[in-house]
Amino acid sequence: MKKIKGLRCKECGHESPAIAKHVCEFCFGPLEVAYDYDAIRAEISKEKIASRPHNLWRYWELLPVETRDVLSLNEGFTPFWKSRNLGKLLGLKNLYIKNDAVNPTFSFKDRVVSVALTRSRELGFDVVACASTGNLAGSVAAYGAVGRFKTFVFIPADLELGKIVGAGVFDPIIVGIRGNYDEVNRLCAEIADLFRWAFVNVNIRPYYSEGSKTLGFEVAEQLGWRAPDHVVVPVASGSLLTKIHKGLREFHQLGLIPECHTRISAAQAFGCAPVVTAIKEKSDIIKPVVPKTIAKSIAIGNPADGYYASQTVLSTGGVGEWATDEEIIEGIRLLARCEGVFTETAGGTTVAVLKKLVESGKISADEVVVAYITGNGFKTQESVQDRISKPYTIEARLSEFRALYENLVQTKRVENVGSLEMKLSV
Ligand SMILES: *Cc1c(COP(=O)(O)O)cnc(C)c1O
Ligand SMILES: [Zn+2]
Repeated sequence: MKKIKGLRCKECGHESPAIAKHVCEFCFGPLEVAYDYDAIRAEISKEKIASRPHNLWRYWELLPVETRDVLSLNEGFTPFWKSRNLGKLLGLKNLYIKNDAVNPTFSFKDRVVSVALTRSRELGFDVVACASTGNLAGSVAAYGAVGRFKTFVFIPADLELGKIVGAGVFDPIIVGIRGNYDEVNRLCAEIADLFRWAFVNVNIRPYYSEGSKTLGFEVAEQLGWRAPDHVVVPVASGSLLTKIHKGLREFHQLGLIPECHTRISAAQAFGCAPVVTAIKEKSDIIKPVVPKTIAKSIAIGNPADGYYASQTVLSTGGVGEWATDEEIIEGIRLLARCEGVFTETAGGTTVAVLKKLVESGKISADEVVVAYITGNGFKTQESVQDRISKPYTIEARLSEFRALYENLVQTKRVENVGSLEMKLSV
C-alpha cells in the first residue's frame, strides 16, 4: 500500500511531492501530508490496531512513512485512567488523565520524533537537527543516537539543567543560543536553508507534526473507541492541539469511532499566551509576544501553528485560557497530590487551566474530559523546588525524632497520629 499522496498547502491547496519541505512555493502557506484515505480505509481496522504492540506504530496506516522499518523506542500507548481524586475535587464525574510524561525521554515529543526520524531516514538524511524549547532536544538526541544519525540540537542557553543533561547524555552536538526559543528557531530556519539536514521541526515539520495525531488516536482507543467530549491541551507552537483534533477526525472519517464532537481547549502560560489571547479576542491574528514564564517547554512567542490552533479551538467550541506561574505551580502540586504524577510546567498549565474552566462553568460535571499531561516534572525541578515539602534533617537518634514529632504535632503540621507516650519511649 502506498498511502502518502504528497504534501498539500493548507492555504491554497497546491500539491507537491512528499519531500523535505514545509512551505508552499506559491503562497508560503504551511504544507501538510496528504493521504490516500481510500487505500487506508481498505487496510485499517480496530481489530488490526488492537492486535499490535503497545506503541504508536500500531497506527502505522495513518502515519506519514511508507517503510515498515520504523525507528521506535516504544513510545506512545502511555497510561490513561479515570481520575482517582482530581475529578472529585473539581466536581467532574468523568475526568481522565493521559500521562505522556512517561515516554522514553519523558515527554510527548518522542511521538513526533519517532515519526520524523523514521521519515528522515526514509528520505535519505544522515544528519538530524532541531530547534527546541527543551523536550525536543532530549528526544531528537536519543532517537538520533539510536538511529545512528549525526545530531545537532539548538536550545536557548538558559534551559533547565535537567533538559540539558537529559539531551547531553545521548552525546549530540548541543548549541546553546543566547536568546529565547523564537530566536533559536529563526537561526535554525536560516541553517536549514543552507545545509541538507533533516530539521525535524523545520523542513521535516509536515511529517513531524503528524506524530501528535497519535495522542488523539490513543485516547479514543483507550476510551473504548469513542471520542471524549472535551480535551485540555497545552500549546506551544500549536501543532499538538491541531493534530489531536485531526487524529480524532480521521478516526471518525475511517469509521473507527462513531462520532467526533470533541471540544478542544487550549492552555498557555499567562507570560506567553499569543494563541489564547487570539482566542479570547476571537481574532485571526496571532500577535507575537516575548515569553516570560517558568513554563519554558511551551514558551513560544511566535507560534508556527498558532493560527490553526486558535481556529481549531473556536470551531470546536473549546476555550482558550491562561495560567499564571503561581497557578502553574499549584497545578503541578495538585496533580501530584491527587493522581501521583509529577509533571513539568506544561502539565501544570493544563491542570491549572482545567481547574479554571470548571470554576467558570465552561466544563460541566458530566462531560468526558481528558487532561493531557505532556512532560515530566523531574526535568524542571527548579520550578518547584522552593515550594514543596522539604526533609527535616536530624541525627539518627530516637530522641531527635521524638523532639521533631512533638514539634510537628504542636505546630499542627501533623495530627497526633501515633501515641507519643505509648509508642515512642526513649
Ligand atoms: C512541545 C511541548 C508542548 C506543545 O507542543 P506544540 O506542538 O509545539 O504546541 C506541550 N507540552 C510539552 C511538555 C512540550 O514539550
Ligand atoms: Zn499555498
